[in-house]
Amino acid sequence: MRSRKLRRNETLEDCPRCGRETVHRVALKLKQTSTGGDVSPENVKFARKPVRTTACLECDARSRTLRDRD
Ligand SMILES: [Zn+2]
Repeated sequence: MRSRKLRRNETLEDCPRCGRETVHRVALKLKQTSTGGDVSPENVKFARKPVRTTACLECDARSRTLRDRD
């Protein structure tokens, strides 16, 4: 039973590998969906979208929350 305080970049999530709710470290990355060269500057921001990744601090399992799949 842990009762540590969560940091701002940590969250409690269900870890499929641990089979229980564990602390995950959250990272947000901008994923570039376009290769770049063919996107005008006004559209660059639309070609990127944040990808939320979490890593279980117990078993280091990583997961991504994506709206679409690679
Ligand atoms: Zn885990």
